[in-house]
Amino acid sequence: MSNQILEIRLSPKGIKPVRNGHPWVFRNALAGRPVPASVPEDVVRTVTGNGLRWETTGPAIVCDPTGTPIGWGIYNEASRLALRMITRNSSSAIHRGTFTSLIRDSISRRDDPRRDPDTDVFRLLFGEADGFPGLAVDRLGDALVMEISGAFAWENRGWIVQDFLRLTGAQRILIEPDREMLDRDGVPGPLSSEEHRGEGEAAAEPAAGKALIVRENGLSWYAEPGGGQKTGFYCDQQVNRRRLGELSRGLSVLDGFCYQGGFGLTALSRGAARVTCADSSADALAIVERNRALQGADADRLEIVRGDLFSMLRNNAVGAGSLERYDLVILDPPKLVPARHHRDAGLRAYKDLNMAAMRKMRQGARLATFSCSGAVSRDDFRTALAWAAADAGRVVRIEELFSQGPDHPVPLHFPEAEYLKGFLLRIH
Ligand code: SAH
Repeated sequence: MSNQILEIRLSPKGIKPVRNGHPWVFRNALAGRPVPASVPEDVVRTVTGNGLRWETTGPAIVCDPTGTPIGWGIYNEASRLALRMITRNSSSAIHRGTFTSLIRDSISRRDDPRRDPDTDVFRLLFGEADGFPGLAVDRLGDALVMEISGAFAWENRGWIVQDFLRLTGAQRILIEPDREMLDRDGVPGPLSSEEHRGEGEAAAEPAAGKALIVRENGLSWYAEPGGGQKTGFYCDQQVNRRRLGELSRGLSVLDGFCYQGGFGLTALSRGAARVTCADSSADALAIVERNRALQGADADRLEIVRGDLFSMLRNNAVGAGSLERYDLVILDPPKLVPARHHRDAGLRAYKDLNMAAMRKMRQGARLATFSCSGAVSRDDFRTALAWAAADAGRVVRIEELFSQGPDHPVPLHFPEAEYLKGFLLRIH
């Protein structure tokens, strides 16, 4: 596909979301096959110069159904998600500088006074939501972690790394391929993690699995890029950890699906009377204990429980006691709905989980409950919670709404970017 500029026409139905700013075009929204665009040689040189690699993907002029250009995108023959929009400006061709500007703008938007000042872990670039398809970049202290899920970002990672090193002053960058998504995008495996140092050389020994120490909300945490989950630290919950920490003073708190203890240890540091951190992963719980020690928190006020939360809640037995002892229960399960076609089964899983908690929680206690499934909307989740309350026989009121932090922004015309939502509920 290399170096050929394509011309792609959208169908009458496919055009509207793109005009409004949606970055994705599925194959069924194209009007026919892409054709080679007739463009002058200097445009071809612009679009393919400066080390831009077009391998699995190709640059495309995107046109409305009458053939009038409306912007530029990245075409992928291998993917059902055939076209990713880069710009709705058709008058100048995309080139390496277009992408560097996207990266620079995204980084500069992170200068956010709402973030706790003693926090050095946050998302610098959130894929399509920041205009760059298939690339998520988190800052973890001095290091950056890039999670790459798109063919274009994967094949261009060489200069993307250089741009990030230059623009952030980071010491090193770890690259984590999202193998499943890259496979769907036509990039065959096996793909391995990589580490790049400031000098630009790929290090012989990737540091994946080696723990870093980062700061969030004024506390120190171990983060393990490549060794743990996601990019090593769930920075999307920073604001919610701080908020629930504020509400925890003097309370008995259950941090369910705690991973490395983000919610529970923040609550402990903000004066919670007792905290239970529960998760099924022994590795995650080992980090909870290491984080507790790192933070110098009181071991007597922390209980660490390993097990399946669905059955612990159903049996009303979490560690040494029952659910009645908690003033605040936090439930932040992994994605229970992996894709839209699993939506109904997934909503039942959210309902069952929350019903089990609501049924046994004491009068007046609070439940902070989250869904990180992109295929579940806030309204769907709220409906599942209403079913849960009805079947638990409780009156449940919403006191606050939660979402992903402002470093995971949601463009109004790209609602799919809003994957994390939560409610603070009061149970009566
Ligand atoms: N709240 C965490 C992130 C949670 S990620 C934070 O603030 O960082 C989801 C967690 O759920 C993972 O740690 C995973 O090990 C755990 N998990 C998955 N299935 C589980 C189950 N059935 N019971 C208990 N924990 C589970």
